[in-house]
Amino acid sequence: MTVRTRIAPSPTGDPHVGTAYVALFNYCFAKKHGGQFVLRIEDTDQKRSTSASEQMIFDALRWVGLEWDEGPDVGGPHGPYRQSERSELYAKHTAELVEKGHAFHCFCSTERLAALRQEQRSSGSSVTGYDGLCMSLSKDEVAERLAKGESHVIRMVVPREGECVFQDVLRGEIRIPWTQVDMQVLMKSDGLPTYHLANVVDDHHMEITHVMRGEEWINSAPKHQLLYEYFGWDMPVLCHLPLLRNPDKSKLSKRKNPTSLWWYREMGYLPEGLLNYLGHMAWTMPDERDLFTLEEMVDAFKIEKIALGGPVFDVPKLSSLNARWLREQLDPEQFIDRLVDWRLNREFLSKLVPLVQQRVQRFTDLIDLTDYMLTHLVEVDAETLQSGREAEEVMRDLYFAVQRFTALDEWNKESIEGVIRVLCEHSGLKMRVFVKPFYLAMSGKPSALPLFDSMEILGRDITRDRINHAIATLGGLGKKKLKKLDKELAALAVLAESE
Ligand code: GLU
Repeated sequence: MTVRTRIAPSPTGDPHVGTAYVALFNYCFAKKHGGQFVLRIEDTDQKRSTSASEQMIFDALRWVGLEWDEGPDVGGPHGPYRQSERSELYAKHTAELVEKGHAFHCFCSTERLAALRQEQRSSGSSVTGYDGLCMSLSKDEVAERLAKGESHVIRMVVPREGECVFQDVLRGEIRIPWTQVDMQVLMKSDGLPTYHLANVVDDHHMEITHVMRGEEWINSAPKHQLLYEYFGWDMPVLCHLPLLRNPDKSKLSKRKNPTSLWWYREMGYLPEGLLNYLGHMAWTMPDERDLFTLEEMVDAFKIEKIALGGPVFDVPKLSSLNARWLREQLDPEQFIDRLVDWRLNREFLSKLVPLVQQRVQRFTDLIDLTDYMLTHLVEVDAETLQSGREAEEVMRDLYFAVQRFTALDEWNKESIEGVIRVLCEHSGLKMRVFVKPFYLAMSGKPSALPLFDSMEILGRDITRDRINHAIATLGGLGKKKLKKLDKELAALAVLAESE
């Protein structure tokens, strides 16, 4: 048997460290066994998926040094590798399930489903999820309602008693009562599949032998196992990887830790160091050494030796490991090459030069002008940040901007400017006054290169870090304040939408 593994990231937002982590383990296992590692793009959420984000997944995985044998950009015999291009396949298999009585059309309105949820919650019932109402519709009734064009989804039939028993390579037998498993929607009203259906159909057709994915998917395994049974297909081996955690043990989140792979690149981590650290999260080399290359990890890899437990992704520890890579693993020539790759290259300069050329008399002037473009945080004192305004008010503006920046689909000076303009209007201040703390937070100086350009070049993550740092300098926002501000921001969003 040829081992075939895969990852199926969704192309929404920036490429996530978790994607590289899961990819690394899938890669190591496939390569150890001379098999193939497949990259599939899960773009069934049409509203949120973007091709820019897909391209970033390719770039980020290549940046850390992982290559795939099959995928949307490299092709392969099991394509297409984008789920949005596989609709016919999903429709065919869903029809097959309906035909066999394993799935049914459901016409229930969102209002009815919300009321049902509310009722279950207030009665404290142990049974949750869909109650099966539409299962009792006759064939004729279904045909009639479909002919009328009534909006509907397709759900899978799930037993209402007993328990589902399945195996996980790392955890052995897992049992989940069927009452805890919802009659999952397989096909949404827009005719697109949900993750569960697409995932099972694709893993089967792509001949995936081992599904290695984050442990947040364990609870979905019963649905998947049942679908394999309904289809009469063999299920791949399941291996759920331990979730990466923040130092406080909560699930790794961008509120508490940088999660975008670009942050690590912009900050000047070596991709080998980052990959090494990600490997370290759930893997120990037989001789227990900390520093190892991808090839060494592949050579030594044994799936059953993946360590469970909540691996803490700790940026200072990553930095120590990265330091060893920089100091011990590179000779000076290689160090120069990496430095050039990082910032001292034409690509970076071509973004910077249009901003600085008209502002210098000599090249040495460049240093003062651009120092803040080459570092992480900058310092400014609270009084300067306030410039005569109330600290609370300045913090509010800064906080709103961070929240809005986080939600932006695309990071460029136009989208950044859009956010600032809306917030400026809301504040009732003149633009010049409104943007002052932002200039200071970004550059540490009262006058600097154009704000929106600087933010675009520095990237979303470093921009957010600096604004958050300024908020902390101003005294910070407690939980209660944050709650109030979140409400105010939500109201602002509603207002904007109705305009
Ligand atoms: N889009 C899912 C994720 O990236 C895929 C999960 C899976 O591998 O099945 O978490």
